[in-house]
Amino acid sequence: MEIFKGIPVSAGVAIGRVLVLDDARVRIPRRTVDSNEVKGELTKLESALEMSRAELLDLESRAHQRLGDDAAQIFAFHRGMLGDPSLTGPIRERIERERVTAEFSVVQAFGDLAEWFRSLDDPSFSAKVDDVWDLERRVLRHLIGEQKTRLARLTEPAVVVSHELTPSEAASFTPETVMAFVTDVGGRTSHTAIMAHAMGIPAVVGAGRLTAAAQDGDLIIVDGDRGVIVLNPDEETVQEHRAYIERQRLFRTSLADLASEEATTTCGEHITLMGNIEFPREAAAVIEMGGEGVGLYRTEFLFLTKDDEPTEEEQFETYAEAVRSLGGRPITFRTFDLGADKYTSKQAKDPERNPFLGLRSIRYCMQNLPMFRTQLRAILRASALGPARIMFPLITTLTELRQARMVLRDVMEDLEDEGVPFDRGLKVGMMVESPAAAVMASAFAREVDFFSIGTNDLVQYVLAVDRTNEHVASLYTPSHPAVLRLVKDVIRAARRQGVEVSICGEIAGDVEYTMLLLGMGLRTLSASPGAIPQLKRVIRSVDIETCERLARKVGSLDSERLVAAQLRDAARKVIPEAFDGRSVED
Ligand code: PEP
Ligand code: MG
Repeated sequence: MEIFKGIPVSAGVAIGRVLVLDDARVRIPRRTVDSNEVKGELTKLESALEMSRAELLDLESRAHQRLGDDAAQIFAFHRGMLGDPSLTGPIRERIERERVTAEFSVVQAFGDLAEWFRSLDDPSFSAKVDDVWDLERRVLRHLIGEQKTRLARLTEPAVVVSHELTPSEAASFTPETVMAFVTDVGGRTSHTAIMAHAMGIPAVVGAGRLTAAAQDGDLIIVDGDRGVIVLNPDEETVQEHRAYIERQRLFRTSLADLASEEATTTCGEHITLMGNIEFPREAAAVIEMGGEGVGLYRTEFLFLTKDDEPTEEEQFETYAEAVRSLGGRPITFRTFDLGADKYTSKQAKDPERNPFLGLRSIRYCMQNLPMFRTQLRAILRASALGPARIMFPLITTLTELRQARMVLRDVMEDLEDEGVPFDRGLKVGMMVESPAAAVMASAFAREVDFFSIGTNDLVQYVLAVDRTNEHVASLYTPSHPAVLRLVKDVIRAARRQGVEVSICGEIAGDVEYTMLLLGMGLRTLSASPGAIPQLKRVIRSVDIETCERLARKVGSLDSERLVAAQLRDAARKVIPEAFDGRSVED
């Protein structure tokens, strides 16, 4: 039995069998296959080699046309290497002789070749080492593509263990195939983590070296409530976790009754609970969990599940589905927040050095106006079907906001000219998720109908901590007084100017923060649908005066640890079941 500690990002505990999804960027562990699977590995290898050769041939001819003979030679050399039996022969032999996976054999053979080039005491040969790695990456990419097939071939749900998962990879999972996932890297509010929420499966990220230790078929416990992973647990540990799963199931069943109840405090204040969604099918879950509408629709996930830009018609159909399934309840469409860890295939080919500070969100949209306009058209058309609002992400300057609004006005005029119906009174708002927007909230409040505070990004930009980086995860603290002070200022500025304000960062769904947020003056929270019942339970157990007292107390503290402890103590009293523990320690 081996215990790993990571960052809990999606609640629940799962006990199942491991499926390791390898990644070309990590060491490929040595894994053997059954003798009847050797043929499959060889076929996988042949097709990866074939696809790599075809790709190189294409690159060679394009390089020849555009750059001439010398550039084309590089690809010809790569193609030559792939056709050389002294490289490919040993790959096949190792698969047959040692019954290892094709990817492991590829990595070994390329490693040997690189070593050989390096050992030749000639600079022109040692320079070839980079070519070897480049070629290895190409072949592995085609082999790693096989991972999806492995997932599809699963006959029962597995626990996916992977070094890293992109949000779009995670989006391809279904609860029928993946019962939980764990990644070696990642942070609390990475979008891959958010995907796990959306699918309602337990997940832990930043688990260190789990990929190297876990083997396909190993028994594993993934505790998405505490961020603990137990590899090959003993029977007692399994039983203990099964009992916990059952207690949690009973707790959730008891919360289910709250779905039809009002989210009203004991002193009679109504709190609007909304859901965050990534796909239209989740809109139904929001209602089922007792939400009053969608406070944040992360529309960019439509982009992430396909290679090409979705057409206006495709987008309209998708948005219309969300609006229709809400049956007259409100929905806030956030325009594409692409970039950072949610990149298009175009961005993936040409990665930025600092993507979270780069061409992201509204900046990307403003530099890709035809794409932006297409999305606005689709959202506006959907607004004719039910109450919709539109919201721009990552606004940092008034100019940016004004320009985005100008594009929106222009698109509205086009639709009007064409006689296409849409809601002319549609409210326009912005995410407050950059320090600049938070500090200048009063100025922004004059130009929008509503604010939605995005603490996931606000925390990372205020504290200079990458939200996806497990190495600095302990510094990613929404309880930091600097963050809380900004949130408070934004709420105050909005209220003073009569602008609606809500919060949609992950802390909106974290019961430890609910009393503080109410005490700071928020009356609308938007969280992942699964969090709504717990939030309702807290809201129905507290009064605003107590929350305000807590907010004042917390406001006088200058340490994020003291704040976190204070909030946890208060929440534990109200909803102790959310803090149920198990004996396997961190
Ligand atoms: C946020 O930044 O808090 C937010 C809700 O947006 P996202 O997590 O999609 O960046
Ligand atoms: Mg954000």
